[in-house]
Amino acid sequence: MAWVTGQQLRLYNSLGRRLEDFTPSADVVGLYSCGPTVYSYQHLGNMRPYVFADTLRRALRWKGVPVRAVVNITDVGHAVADSDTGEDKLEVAAAKERRSVEEIAEFYAQDWLAALAALNVQPADVYPRASEYVEQMIAFAVRLEELGYTYQLPTGLYFDTSKSPGYGTLALLDLAGQRETGRVEHVEGRKQASDFALWRAEEPGVRRVMRWNSPWGWGAPGWHLECSVMSMALLGEHFDIHTGGIDHRELHHVNEIAQSEAYLGDGRPWVRYWLHNEFILLDAQKIAKSAGHTLRLADLVEAGYHPMAYRLFLLGGHYRSQLDFTFTAMDAAQATLRRLVSRVAPLRPLPRVETLADARALLGAPAAAAAGVTADAPVTHGAPVDDKAALAYVEAVDAAIANDLATPKLLATLQEALRDPDITAEGLKIVVATADALLGLRLADLDPAEVDQRRPTDDLTPEQVAAIERLIAERTQARKEKNWSRADEIRGELDALGVQVTDTPTGPTWQLR
Ligand code: AMP
Ligand code: ZN
Repeated sequence: MAWVTGQQLRLYNSLGRRLEDFTPSADVVGLYSCGPTVYSYQHLGNMRPYVFADTLRRALRWKGVPVRAVVNITDVGHAVADSDTGEDKLEVAAAKERRSVEEIAEFYAQDWLAALAALNVQPADVYPRASEYVEQMIAFAVRLEELGYTYQLPTGLYFDTSKSPGYGTLALLDLAGQRETGRVEHVEGRKQASDFALWRAEEPGVRRVMRWNSPWGWGAPGWHLECSVMSMALLGEHFDIHTGGIDHRELHHVNEIAQSEAYLGDGRPWVRYWLHNEFILLDAQKIAKSAGHTLRLADLVEAGYHPMAYRLFLLGGHYRSQLDFTFTAMDAAQATLRRLVSRVAPLRPLPRVETLADARALLGAPAAAAAGVTADAPVTHGAPVDDKAALAYVEAVDAAIANDLATPKLLATLQEALRDPDITAEGLKIVVATADALLGLRLADLDPAEVDQRRPTDDLTPEQVAAIERLIAERTQARKEKNWSRADEIRGELDALGVQVTDTPTGPTWQLR
């Protein structure tokens, strides 16, 4: 096995809440990321888990570790408000949009996949759909029933969390506390508030659109079941890494672990590393579909931002930090991207770099500098580039990514190299290719002309221009009166129209993004 070279990769494991050395347990690392429920458009916040998982994949590739990546698509089983009873999100959306459940799922899944492609997220090896695994989910629940982990109520089959030793460890769960918070819905007859549905039985007199027959009657699977079943089916019973948004750490992943470890019953942790990304905030609140937030990548593109600018915005924060989405920050990201791409374009073509070993070989350094590690030396053409400064930057990039995927540091290192008068042009090419192997900003091919596609103002009608100028005048007045909240509100309205206002000493100017 080509094994990790350079700095030891360290990742923050939510299980134990600490930075740990990452060591693969198999020749191919299994990586499972919880995917979206495809009942509506995915918002900007929903993109973060996949850009983060993509960064992780790139980091593993950089270290010479092969990965098999699975991302599920939830097209059944996710009840409204993440609860165990009530309507399925997909069915509600289908009724509202007067389309079939299949159409809804397919439409929003394709929209999501297109957004990921625009963000240069490498496609997963498999995107399993929950609806295709219901038979396996039933078999999984039958096994749990045989093992004595379940009980049945009129509302369905429940997992008895009191039978699961260490239930809630991932969440550092205070079970008594969870009961107090009232976050958990009341279900008649449920033994513990933390018990969750493996099977959601049809309510009497209600016929679901998506329904399957099971030993517990007609109904649909519980939401948590799909991830245990599909990950085991596609990655083996145990695998190395499971990722998702931070909200999953408290409930969904806790329940996945409980049912999976009960099912396996081998006393081993089901998955070794649990990694969670923090939220993207809008106005200091989590962007959430349920709160009616729908700001999505397509809106940014419509307003003239390049998808890579949003990727750059995301990478500018560490995945474990909350990040405030603002149009000011997007403007900054767009400007940085523009500068970066115009600076890098003359250096093209860039050499092909995917791994640390690739970069070191191009610079004539031994593929594996750390003690006791070996890696296959990649084949390079031509003489290696003799550039000590470039090699130092490559090592700095390696140190940054190995330190729990420190993308802000990695970006800073790239910028530093681009400003360095002592680096050679050939060395710089290697450093840029190296950084982009991990950042995925398409620095090797993004056309500078493609980056900036602000709409020319001549597309606007005179009425639109007048309306914009009226808003700007109102904002100027509000600012004069120190009515900051009104001024901010107007800026928000202008943002929504794709208008960017810049305050200059001679008054405000504006342009379209
Ligand atoms: P959902 O379809 O709601 O399960 O969300 C898909 C993924 O996006 C999950 O991993 C969520 O944890 C994650 N997510 C949802 N909202 C945000 C947000 N505002 N910022 C970052 N991640 C989010
Ligand atoms: Zn999941």
